[in-house]
Amino acid sequence: MSPTAVVRFAPSPTGLLHLGNAYSALYSFEAARHLDGRFLLRIEDIDGTRCRPEHEAAMLVDLAWLGLVWEQPVRRQSEHMADYAVALESLTAAGLTYPCFCTRKQIAREIAAAPSAPHGPDGALYPGTCRGLPEGERQDKIAGGVAYAVRLDSGRAAAQAGPGLLWHDRRRGVQALQAGLHGDVVLARKDTPTSYHLAVTVDDALQGITLVTRGADLFAASHVHRLLQALLKLPTPEYDHHPLLRDDAGVRLAKRDGAVSLAQWRHDGHDPAQLRHVLGFAW
Ligand code: GLU
Repeated sequence: MSPTAVVRFAPSPTGLLHLGNAYSALYSFEAARHLDGRFLLRIEDIDGTRCRPEHEAAMLVDLAWLGLVWEQPVRRQSEHMADYAVALESLTAAGLTYPCFCTRKQIAREIAAAPSAPHGPDGALYPGTCRGLPEGERQDKIAGGVAYAVRLDSGRAAAQAGPGLLWHDRRRGVQALQAGLHGDVVLARKDTPTSYHLAVTVDDALQGITLVTRGADLFAASHVHRLLQALLKLPTPEYDHHPLLRDDAGVRLAKRDGAVSLAQWRHDGHDPAQLRHVLGFAW
């Protein structure tokens, strides 16, 4: 018997769910159903300034209205900082992290001044300013209360992880790990003791996720997650990055652009069956 598939939908409660989120939610739910697997919902709320309980409450109403059924209890990332701290400590103990005191402005200035700035999928990479700071200077800054993020030393991380690491995307096939693709990513932010990359990697492992379904905008992020899995000795799930839903003009539907919310759709008198049909999930 093959092991039970475990699939999750992992939204961030930063606003109302829009049709793009509904598509992603249904995609994950239907993948679990198709595999006769388990379906989990995870609330990714580590960003205390952007995530709100009222958004989460509205999201749960929307998802239930859509017809999704998920296991209880729902994992809320803000309640599991201790798990991320353990992972961060193990990376730090292995000599793979460093404190970064740079402000966004300093980073931008440094990149602008560089003759050639290496770029990743999300733009210019962090130039590594704090990577080589002498230990004494680091300690002085920390003792002086200067805020810092914790970054992954991607060069050392790649060396430690070694060659030949792979991951598999159901649509794009086998991927050879590009360990330096995103450079020295943030593992713990100045305002939060974790980051998206660290929390998502730890949670997917702790929750036993076997298939990560999410939008193609996060395809490149899977390289970081695969690297962290290798460093933390966590299992690697399979991935399925679905195409993003676009409007008639081909523009990606995103919350901040005022994309139609599910709540609006509901208030306009549509029913979930119509929405499933529009999104291509009609039974
Ligand atoms: N929380 C992320 C988002 O809402 C998704 C993370 C993931 O599926 O890995 O964009």
